[in-house]
Amino acid sequence: MKDLMTLDQEYIAGTYARFPVEIASGKGSEMFSPEGKRYIDMGSGIAVNAFGIADEAWQQAVTVQLGKVQHTSNLYYTEPCVLLAKALCERTGMKKVFFGNSGAEANECAIKAARKYAAEKKGPECFTIITMKGSFHGRTLTTLAATGQEHYHELFQPLTPGFAYADPEDLEGLTKLARETRAAAVMVECIQGEGGVRPLSGEFLRGVYEFCQKEDILLIVDEVQTGNGRTGQLYAYMNFGIRPDLVSTAKGLGGGLPLGACLFGEKVETVLGPGDHGSTFGGNPVCCAGALSILGRLDEGLLAEVRRKGKLAREMLEGAPGVEAVTGLGLMIGVKTLKPAGDIVKKCMDKGVLCLTAKDKVRLLPALNIPEELLREALQVLLDACAEE
Ligand code: PLP
Repeated sequence: MKDLMTLDQEYIAGTYARFPVEIASGKGSEMFSPEGKRYIDMGSGIAVNAFGIADEAWQQAVTVQLGKVQHTSNLYYTEPCVLLAKALCERTGMKKVFFGNSGAEANECAIKAARKYAAEKKGPECFTIITMKGSFHGRTLTTLAATGQEHYHELFQPLTPGFAYADPEDLEGLTKLARETRAAAVMVECIQGEGGVRPLSGEFLRGVYEFCQKEDILLIVDEVQTGNGRTGQLYAYMNFGIRPDLVSTAKGLGGGLPLGACLFGEKVETVLGPGDHGSTFGGNPVCCAGALSILGRLDEGLLAEVRRKGKLAREMLEGAPGVEAVTGLGLMIGVKTLKPAGDIVKKCMDKGVLCLTAKDKVRLLPALNIPEELLREALQVLLDACAEE
């Protein structure tokens, strides 16, 4: 038998530049290679494993549901999906939920809903969605079009038409663009994750929100990376006193199983009707049972801990040798390092700490319940890598 990396190269489509690390098992924020090398996980599967690896409460919820029914299709009712939608609405004040399987699909649903709302209310020419330069919204052709980074577009033309890109923080430019294009919606990430852990300011976000309300343009907030407790609030928009019309979420919601959701506010709660949208696996009872276990534990105590650990990380990193700047909120942290981020991540990996990059930054997205001593240990390894000559 050839080794795993050789087999991967032979049989897996070459879309991922993997690190030379194989993960065989783990527990909480620690992961182990088949040879038993231990890693501290500072990425949690890119903000997915909200309570770490092999989280017992989540495992229990998932396995109990697996023993009952694993899938039914959306032709029938199942309890976990309905209870999860109810919990999401009660926690956010949103009115309805559509379940899909990923972040890109959650965004696709929000885009479809916005287009239908605007077409019916204002006319079929009002289809444009304004997104931010530097944003990332997914890899389907439509969510690629929504992504405000040209280099993702180049090889896949023609993309879905009807997107226009505004400069973050330039409210005047955005309002002008939205009026010129007769926009249906504005779509934002409160903190651009893939774009380099770049937060949009509260002032800008509130300005966009007020403008959208005034002009009856829908506000879509992409919470795929920032959501489900990551920033110290259930959803990042809650840090800024804004109320979106549509919210997309995925990643951490499923705690490690594929699940995405589009949340509809009052204005759009009835916009999609029978046959307008669907997904075979959407609302899968096993994924939703796991998500209920996750969401139920994202309470104020846990969110306060996320804020406290985020502050601790910031205090350890800010002003340290080799660290230029620290961005982000809660446990979504970007570290601008003097040396190239990729080199720092490699050094950390060799020392048993798995970090991510985002553009020119080291990106940290640990499990929300990472024990403080593991967080400190991992940050010290990162600090040493930054300070090394
Ligand atoms: N939106 C944002 C903000 C993301 O960070 C991502 C993935 O990184 C997506 C959408 C796409 O999510 P998925 O890969 O689950 O389709």
